[in-house]
Amino acid sequence: MGPLFQPVHLKILSDAVSLSEEIISDCFGLTTDYWLKNPYEVRTLKDERKATFPKGVYAHLEKYGNNWHEKFFGTDTRCLYKVLVLDPRVLRVTRGRLSLMLPFLLYVMTHELIHMVRFSRFECAANLEDKIDEENKVHDLTEAVLSKVKMSHLDTVINFFNGKTISLSMN
Ligand SMILES: [Zn+2]
Repeated sequence: MGPLFQPVHLKILSDAVSLSEEIISDCFGLTTDYWLKNPYEVRTLKDERKATFPKGVYAHLEKYGNNWHEKFFGTDTRCLYKVLVLDPRVLRVTRGRLSLMLPFLLYVMTHELIHMVRFSRFECAANLEDKIDEENKVHDLTEAVLSKVKMSHLDTVINFFNGKTISLSMN
C-alpha cells in the first residue's frame, strides 16, 4: 500500500479542503446552509484499509444518506458524503514534494466536491447511466473552476490530469 500521510501532509489536505470548498461555494453560489445540509467528511486510508480502487484514482466519493423512509417523508433531508483520499497514491505521484501537494490535493478535492454538488442538486442521476459522460463533465468543470485560481504548480497538476504530461515534473 505504501506510506500514509503524516501530520504535515494532513495539514496540507485540510488547507486544500477549505480552499476547494471556498472556490466551489463562489462558483456554484453555495451558502453555509448548503454545507450544513450536505455535510461531508474527508478520510484517508489510515481510517479505512479495505477496498481496492482503479488505477489513476486518487480519491473516492461515497454517499451514505439516511434511510429512504426518512427522506421520503421529509423528516430528514440530509445526505452524508465521504471523500476518501488515497494518500499512498498521492504521495507516490507527487513524490512527496510538499510544493506539489497543495495544488494536487486542491484539484482532487475540487473534483470530488463538484461530483457531490451535482449529486445533491440532481444534476446527475444517482445511478449514473453514463458514468464516463459524468466524469468528463466534472473533469471539464474542475479545470474551468481552477483555471481562475492562482497557485504555483497548479498548471502542472491541471496538465497532468488532462493527460498532457504523464508525470508531475516541476520546471
Ligand atoms: Zn470523478
